[in-house]
Amino acid sequence: MARYIFVTGGVVSSLGKGLSSASLAYLLKSQGYKVRLRKMDPYLNVDPGTMSPFQHGEVFVTDDGAETDLDLGHYERFTNISSKQSDNITTGRIYSDVIKKERTGGYLGKTVQVIPHVTNRIKEFIKKDISNEDFVICEIGGTVGDIESLPFVEAIRQFSNEHGKSKTLFIHLTFVPFLKSSDEIKTKPTQHSVKELRSIGIQPDIIICRSQQSIPLDQRKKISLFCNVPIENVIETVDVRTIYEAPISFFNQKLDKQVLKYFKLKPKKRANLNPWKKITKITLNTKKSIDIAIIGKYVNLKDAYKSLDEALVHGGISNKIKVNLVRIESDNLKTKEIGKKLKNVSGLLIPGGFGKRGTEGKISAIKYARENKIPFLGICFGMQMAIIEFARNKLKIKKAGSSELDKKCYPVIGLINEWDKNGKIIKGTDKNLGGTMRLGLYEAKLRNNSAINRIYKSRSIKERHRHRYEVNNSLKHQFETKGLIFSGMSPDNKLPEIIELKNHPWFIGVQFHPEFRSRPLSPHPLFSSFIKAAKNHK
Ligand code: GLN
Repeated sequence: MARYIFVTGGVVSSLGKGLSSASLAYLLKSQGYKVRLRKMDPYLNVDPGTMSPFQHGEVFVTDDGAETDLDLGHYERFTNISSKQSDNITTGRIYSDVIKKERTGGYLGKTVQVIPHVTNRIKEFIKKDISNEDFVICEIGGTVGDIESLPFVEAIRQFSNEHGKSKTLFIHLTFVPFLKSSDEIKTKPTQHSVKELRSIGIQPDIIICRSQQSIPLDQRKKISLFCNVPIENVIETVDVRTIYEAPISFFNQKLDKQVLKYFKLKPKKRANLNPWKKITKITLNTKKSIDIAIIGKYVNLKDAYKSLDEALVHGGISNKIKVNLVRIESDNLKTKEIGKKLKNVSGLLIPGGFGKRGTEGKISAIKYARENKIPFLGICFGMQMAIIEFARNKLKIKKAGSSELDKKCYPVIGLINEWDKNGKIIKGTDKNLGGTMRLGLYEAKLRNNSAINRIYKSRSIKERHRHRYEVNNSLKHQFETKGLIFSGMSPDNKLPEIIELKNHPWFIGVQFHPEFRSRPLSPHPLFSSFIKAAKNHK
């Protein structure tokens, strides 16, 4: 049986549970162990797919098409292990499964209750789809003490009781504040948080203390004493200069060593920290920088385009240049301001998006990038906007638009059933907004000798999708005659996947989300190439 490591958080949220779990997973993996990472989210949405980025940050999409929490993105970027649908569960999903079972008579006349029915379902999730993994690291969202996360905490308590301490380990991540006025590090919040955890039956085995500065031995001893944890299992994590330093920092603090010791295991091989050292060095020492404009609805929200921000940084790492993001809110972007805003940037990126707000500004910005030969990358919605721009200004289809935004437009972008029948427009129905998109990994065939073919060095690629609308393929010939090539198509040749402009240094739109597959240790070729073009632009 796999060994299960449960990671809870205390005192405050946003302490970096995801990053800590991902770093630990990397360290265990690099020492020869097979690892899986999972996330349990205590909200009532069945998945984060319908949540606004304002609420929850980016929706991360897996190969198998699950819309998940953005922490799964951290997991993948740090471990290079692809997450699956079965790696993320929410309270909403658990309850919906339990209620469905109840409605179909699955509980044989019993009273259905949180304990044991909901907790049993959580325990099923924890073990589901696990085969020969050595470790399963399960992160519990939220903070201990929240009403919402209680069923999860109760379920992991039961799980440990049933499978024994030799198979389960509890890690609690807490905050250890520094009080400037008294020049002191305070352990009391940690003590209280552990007390809270113990009151629901869980004694942590390892405490990770997030702190702005190193925690003196005396304070660590205090935490050890009051929280009933051996001193060597009180691990500090001081703010790192870049997130790529996190695995190095946890290794130096011996987190992985203590975990292996707990399970009476030894490393199968030495942890390899060299790649992280290398990219930390590049990240901290690179002086030269370029500005990339990114225009979207949520650009000023830290986590709304998490994977995208990361992928651009990865592209910078592979070109040894720092990428500054010039975030431009699309909402009030006036056409006449665009020239001024984009004059000094080295590249323009229009990311994925939904809904009408701010689209005209995006379309005008793409026109500017096309005409002024600024490297442009359009992702999903960004590609769709590039198609609309080209149709309006080069094909002279003045009413060109997307039926997502305007039901009366000429849909160069539409739901498949609106235009698939020989270009004839049929109205689509689109009522159920949860999980009804083209989601997950799909293949695209790339045209020989196209820019995209040179970038990927392959004729066939697979990338992750998350969209409902598609480019109207019936206009392909007209677009191509005017210089916009459909250089990537679905294998059945019906769905345009990639567009690129002839006679432009770098102008590419993709219907998928390449950012989900970019890794710091292996930057995505599309981002490396985009940043390289931007670097050459100025
Ligand atoms: N709103 C568009 C669609 O559904 C694009 C989605 C996206 O950018 N992820 O097709």
